[in-house]
Amino acid sequence: MLDKKLLEILACPICKGDLRYEKDQQELICLPDKLAFPVRDAVPVMLSEEARHIGPDEEERYR
Ligand SMILES: [Zn+2]
Repeated sequence: MLDKKLLEILACPICKGDLRYEKDQQELICLPDKLAFPVRDAVPVMLSEEARHIGPDEEERYR
């Protein structure tokens, strides 16, 4: 589980925008960049190399 305060200070490393926390997937989503950053053992991995690209269907779901 991610700490709420931590979540508030986290921003996308690329666009510096807000991230959306998907608890079930343990991922932090940046919609403008269409990237999902993994959260491993409650530690967000804010590296674009580690991020997963999200498809149009998934993007729609997060809107
Ligand atoms: Zn971004």
